[in-house]
Amino acid sequence: EHHTGYAIDLGDAGFPQWDTQEAFETTPAFQWLQSNAARFGFELSFPRNNPQGVNYEPWHWRFVGDRHSLETFYKR
Ligand SMILES: [Zn+2]
Repeated sequence: EHHTGYAIDLGDAGFPQWDTQEAFETTPAFQWLQSNAARFGFELSFPRNNPQGVNYEPWHWRFVGDRHSLETFYKR
């Protein structure tokens, strides 16, 4: 998804050892993202048991806050 320009990997500066690790889900940054990302048009791309069959990636978020990004990720 990164090649679309709409996806970003995030870390918590207080827990750099958990960058791109499942344990990122235990950080304050992830808790904030879960509570607030949608307000800014972001969603977790690969939650647990996602339909794409991609490994769970709590650090990887994508923008779906406008028509073009929605069409990019939800085209059928
Ligand atoms: Zn990523």
